[in-house]
Amino acid sequence: MRHSSNFHLIGHPLVQHKMTLLRRKETSTAQFRRLAREISMLMAYELTRDLPLETVIIDTPLERTKAPLLSGKKLCFVSILRAGGGMLDGMLDLVPGARVAHIGLYRDPTTLVPVEYYAKLPDDVQERLAILVDPMLATGNSAAAAIARVKQAGVTQIRFACLLAAPEGVDLLAETHHDVPVYAAGLDRGLDAHGYIRPGLGDAGDRLFGTR
Ligand code: URA
Repeated sequence: MRHSSNFHLIGHPLVQHKMTLLRRKETSTAQFRRLAREISMLMAYELTRDLPLETVIIDTPLERTKAPLLSGKKLCFVSILRAGGGMLDGMLDLVPGARVAHIGLYRDPTTLVPVEYYAKLPDDVQERLAILVDPMLATGNSAAAAIARVKQAGVTQIRFACLLAAPEGVDLLAETHHDVPVYAAGLDRGLDAHGYIRPGLGDAGDRLFGTR
């Protein structure tokens, strides 16, 4: 990996333990879905560690007091279809009031360039911290395209979260979007000839949705 300063590996033991269960080929669709959700919730905790707080005055049942509250417009999770949905639920478990955007991309079979087929973002997305979610950062091509789409909508604060990253994808994002920190629960050896992350976990979408 050539560029690593913007890459954050979530080393928490619970995350690492659950990643091992997730990777195993014996793991059922139901278990895979639950584990992806749990890992994503734990990752959301790390991804939001530096959110700004403001002090507000509240009344407890006993007295008036000062207390911290998240300040300003907050988060927008951006789910990259279709596998992003497997991380979105866990993130929303932790931040239920967050807005959600969806971006759908497919890879043109001849040019291999990602093509957008769907995009729906909240009107005020540019005022929020956008956290893009996609379980697998493989070549990085679709992640780079999704980040570009979010920037095109005026967003300036962007983070990218995946369960598993390949060095190729981390390098591409460092080259194309050096301003976007990347968070992952695992960093593997690299891509095989078919674009799969090795040792990996297989096709995240198929394992989440039971389509194979
Ligand atoms: N997408 C997946 O679902 N798995 C990989 O290994 C690479 C990309």
